[in-house]
Amino acid sequence: NAVREQDFLVESISQLSISESSSPPVVARLSSESLKFGLDSGGSFQFDLLDCQLFKLGALQSLCVSESKQKINMEKRFSRGCTIQFRNEEESNAFHQAFEHFKKEVVGQGSSLSNGCLSLSTSKFDDKIEPSSAKMYFHYYGQLLHQQNMLQDYVRTGTYYAAVLENRSDFVDRVVVDVGAGSGILSLFAAQAGARHVYAVEASEMADYARKLIAGNPSLGQRITVIKGKVEEVELAEKADILISEPMGTLLVNERMLESYIIARDRFLVPNGKMFPTIGRIHMAPFSDEYLYIEIANKALFWQQQNYYGVNLTPLHSTAFQGYFSQPVVDAFDPRLLVAPAISHVIDFTSTKEEELFEIDVPLRYTSAVGARIHGLACWFDVLFNGSTVQRWLTTSPGAPTTHWYQLRCVLPQPIYVMPGQEIIGRLYMVAHKAQSYTLHLTLSAKTWGPGADQGGILQTSSVKLDLKEPYYRMSQPQVYPATQEQPPNQLLQTQDLQIQSQDDECSDLLRQV
Ligand code: SAH
Repeated sequence: NAVREQDFLVESISQLSISESSSPPVVARLSSESLKFGLDSGGSFQFDLLDCQLFKLGALQSLCVSESKQKINMEKRFSRGCTIQFRNEEESNAFHQAFEHFKKEVVGQGSSLSNGCLSLSTSKFDDKIEPSSAKMYFHYYGQLLHQQNMLQDYVRTGTYYAAVLENRSDFVDRVVVDVGAGSGILSLFAAQAGARHVYAVEASEMADYARKLIAGNPSLGQRITVIKGKVEEVELAEKADILISEPMGTLLVNERMLESYIIARDRFLVPNGKMFPTIGRIHMAPFSDEYLYIEIANKALFWQQQNYYGVNLTPLHSTAFQGYFSQPVVDAFDPRLLVAPAISHVIDFTSTKEEELFEIDVPLRYTSAVGARIHGLACWFDVLFNGSTVQRWLTTSPGAPTTHWYQLRCVLPQPIYVMPGQEIIGRLYMVAHKAQSYTLHLTLSAKTWGPGADQGGILQTSSVKLDLKEPYYRMSQPQVYPATQEQPPNQLLQTQDLQIQSQDDECSDLLRQV
């Protein structure tokens, strides 16, 4: 880049905040740091190239605006701007081209940043995640006990080990990036499979422990470099032939780390490079589980008390009831609780855009295999390692060996009733939020034939909104599922269920009339 500075003569400029115009002509000097205007008064004013933008208002007129960088005083963060009047179209175009050229240099999209530096622009991570959430998140992963918990999930770690070592040809002499390396275990697997070099990127304090672990395994470690930082921000010395990562959270998408995996793909992976895992699928099926439903509904019963030390607690009952149902339930359940085959939503990590994970909308349609009360939607996921030699799935399905992800169930505050062969329709709509998780909106409906609205039957609909960030871990509860689930004894049904009980009667009346 031989050009260090470039001058342009423009017709005139006028600053927007100060209504002062210069008399013609004016020198606009572009350099790799700034855009500086020399005024005829002998003075000058300038914009930092880093934070200023240029817009064409017309063939001969442009607008230059810069956002204030002052971080301290929000009220005094004023932006500045000026309009530039060019003498002709050619000069305007030449100026715009030069502006783009210098701006690219300063923002570091060119080659001017050395490896390992943080880029200057705020990162894609910071733009969408609340700092307090990120702080807690990386604090959690910075602790060895949580890494140990994942390492001790033998289904998880064993499947990664097999997927990597059975597909040596994808690793031998290749450059690998480990996205969110944690303890560095996957980097060590990749080195075992013959990788030429592995970049282990880890944002939490765990990066320091990973260095220690890797140093203690020198035959592998000499081919691994640990880089402490977010994949959205660090720079690497070379492109990767293959990415390896374990970005899956509850329901696959919790933690929003899939987005980091995709950003890492766009930043570090060669075109058509491999990704381990390659695709992910979320599976969803309606379930019937009286015990679970009653357990949750009964939690709010406390707030039904009208004389709690002389205080009426009922004003908070409906809030508490709603609160308990807004928690997705995490535990392992018997697959016999499912009433219809699952529907799947596929996320192809090699082609999905980051933005496609901001909102995930899945239409649901099932045919119930049995007559049952549907209590909600059960969800689990799997991921595929599409190796050149062996394809391997890591599954968290009910009935398969349990992983530390277990399964997830969204429970409806009102069950819906179906007969064998009856259709269930609905929607699961997931919206990402700034606390690295999702708000889930679930609706299930079933149309019951028979007398009802205009003799066309009645449509039962039940909806619930849940926060994936606040799951109810139910693992400590007894999990006895008899071969055929019987209706629980009536003593179990307390006041909360009276309303449901009456609906039940209504429904069975309807069913009898069909
Ligand atoms: N790969 C390890 C750890 C998986 S847990 C294993 O399989 O055992 C996910 C790890 O990714 C955590 O250690 C977390 O701190 C890290 N991580 C999450 N988001 C990240 C990001 N944007 N940049 C770098 N590391 C990230």
